[in-house]
Amino acid sequence: MVRRVLLFLLPLLTSVLMAEGPQHVLIMHSFGRDYSPNGEVASIFRTELARDNPNAIEFVDASLEMARFDGEENEKPLLDFLRAVFEEQMPDLVVPIGSPAVMFCRRHRSTLFPHSPMLLLDAEKRRVEMMKDDPDVVSVGPDVNINYLAGNIFEVLPKTRHIYVAQDASPIGRFWTTVMKREWDAAYSNRATFHWMNDQSLKQMRSTVSALPPDSVVLVGMMMRDAAGVPLVEETGLDAMHESANAPVFSFNDLQLGRGTLGGRLVPQKRVAVEGAKVAMKLLAGVPPSSLPWQHFPLGAPVYDARELKRWGISESALPAGSTVLFRKPGLWETHRSSFLIFVGVIALQTGMIAMLLAARKRAREMHADFTLAADSGNIGLWSRKPGVDELEGSAKWRTIFGLPDSGSVTFEDVLARVHPEDKSMLRSAIELAARDGGAFSLEHRVVHPDGSVRWVSSHGHVHAFGDRQKLEIRGASRDVTERRRATQEAEQRREELAHLSRVATLGALSGSLAHELNQPLGIILSNAQAARHVLACDQPEPEEMCELREMIADIISEDRRAGDVIARMRTLLRRGEVSLQPLDVHQQLQEVVQLTRSDLIGRGVKVDFQLAEDVPPVMSDRVQFQQVLLNLITNAADAMVANPPGERSITLTTCQDGDEVRIDVKDAGTGIEGEPESLFKAFHTTKEHGMGLGLSISRALVTAHGGRLWATRNHDRGATFHITLAATKGVT
Ligand code: ADP
Repeated sequence: MVRRVLLFLLPLLTSVLMAEGPQHVLIMHSFGRDYSPNGEVASIFRTELARDNPNAIEFVDASLEMARFDGEENEKPLLDFLRAVFEEQMPDLVVPIGSPAVMFCRRHRSTLFPHSPMLLLDAEKRRVEMMKDDPDVVSVGPDVNINYLAGNIFEVLPKTRHIYVAQDASPIGRFWTTVMKREWDAAYSNRATFHWMNDQSLKQMRSTVSALPPDSVVLVGMMMRDAAGVPLVEETGLDAMHESANAPVFSFNDLQLGRGTLGGRLVPQKRVAVEGAKVAMKLLAGVPPSSLPWQHFPLGAPVYDARELKRWGISESALPAGSTVLFRKPGLWETHRSSFLIFVGVIALQTGMIAMLLAARKRAREMHADFTLAADSGNIGLWSRKPGVDELEGSAKWRTIFGLPDSGSVTFEDVLARVHPEDKSMLRSAIELAARDGGAFSLEHRVVHPDGSVRWVSSHGHVHAFGDRQKLEIRGASRDVTERRRATQEAEQRREELAHLSRVATLGALSGSLAHELNQPLGIILSNAQAARHVLACDQPEPEEMCELREMIADIISEDRRAGDVIARMRTLLRRGEVSLQPLDVHQQLQEVVQLTRSDLIGRGVKVDFQLAEDVPPVMSDRVQFQQVLLNLITNAADAMVANPPGERSITLTTCQDGDEVRIDVKDAGTGIEGEPESLFKAFHTTKEHGMGLGLSISRALVTAHGGRLWATRNHDRGATFHITLAATKGVT
């Protein structure tokens, strides 16, 4: 026997004794390294410690082989040997695993290793209480609530009537059997019957558990050897129960979950091993055991094996709250994870896009409703024609504007039929032009309603051509502008009337000089006519007289023309008529107006100087209105110089081309402008006793209507200058 132990220890001890430097840890097993669960706890402990400890460690394993040998009498050879081994070199740490090893170390440490610190590992709390005051000892182990070990069963299978307990016949096994019998009978005897199988061999136990009555379970406890004395290394006992039982198998330790036990609140042996390694590291670093707390962990949170739950038809919903289920079979999700993810991704993308499209459609509908509302409130009718469809869609307002029926389909031709015959071709060509250039159109046209009334409509739109230009999408907005047109026309009419009145008034003021302008040629005509009659009264006029006669007649004709011109100009200015734009020679117009006012100007002693640039292009203007403006400026200039001494009354008329414009300046040496020059252009602003104060405001309106400008400036020396600019006519000279 001793030989066997020695053989087991020898290689380890040799290496320990020969090595220098590493720390020595004696692991004292209760049952041997191959017995579960202590063997597994030792293995985890050793791995953790070797990995994390800063110094190298030599582990020395010794075993009591308690699973096989009862009684302290068998300890002697082991004691002798350990004594011999550690005579010179004490271990740096002694770690008894499980309560038998703890008891062994407690009994013999004073002789074996009196100065080595001791870590009691994996011994149940109540089994180590008696060592609590030892300053060289610290303990890490479980704190087992015995009742809970069986309570696990009722938590998931409350109807359980029979519990078959598989526990071995070793001293430690018997100890626990006694404790459990006492506790469980007290707690659960009214719910179930406990059947203790301590006295059965493994074979007998197999046969017992293979034919259990309904509502039975198997509870596997400590199984190191069976009643026949056969050692049960590792999990032989548990595995056998799992294989044979026709009922669920429960056990105590978390390290056994996954080997066929159902689960429950389990002894946290993995945690004990891991935390124990941490404490061992501190002890090896020289931390005194008395300064380290004792740690005893209660049973862990409930944890179950999914495969066993399934096997025994136990629903996960029946598990206690906070349960964890392990060993789930990979489901469809795990097996086809990537394809599933791609599928889900595609679906999600598609769904997202559909959602976006729906949202966009909703938004578009809302926007369309908003637009229609805004358009309605602005009296605007919206319409559109889709490509390839000869049907127009539009708002109710659009139908009203075009005098279309309230409902029913409307074609483009239906709409064109409503357009005034004179404007049809204009509308068509505007749309065709926009279609060709892929752009917008904008025009005002008339619409004839079914009752014959004519409305003016302003239509703006955008044409988009698809593929073969036959497919046109047209969107448009139309607005009834009849009232605005009417108002504009009326305003134009008023302005024309006013302009006419102004001209009449001006000509009235010029009537004296105009009479003079007529009297002059009439007087010349009269005197020439009298002289001619006198010559013709002679029977035989002399040839020279005949020559004079011809000149007289020529004078009569020329003066008659002159008088006729004056009358024609007056009639032109007095006329009320349509505005007609035509290219006008600016210089000729100036000459004509000066001609008209000549007598008046001469009478007032006003001299007119012309400073006319060469090659001034014509301007597009209405002759009457153009002359009216010049007439107004010239008469105003003359009026402004009334108070000037004779000889200081001169008007300078200047023309020049300024870029694309022709500019005409009327400069005087008069009173000049007091205050803001712009104030002169306000209607009814006058400083004259009989003035109306309308001349300049009307002149500005006329020039502006021609696209030009009229403004006044002060001269540096004296007087004022009035400036007109009008667009030069291109290509006409
Ligand atoms: P009216 O000649 O009937 O007064 P206008 O509108 O033609 O009306 O002129 C408005 C006023 O502008 C004139 O009364 C005058 O005070 C001022 N004004 C016009 N032309 C000149 C000028 N060349 N120099 C100084 N003041 C002028």
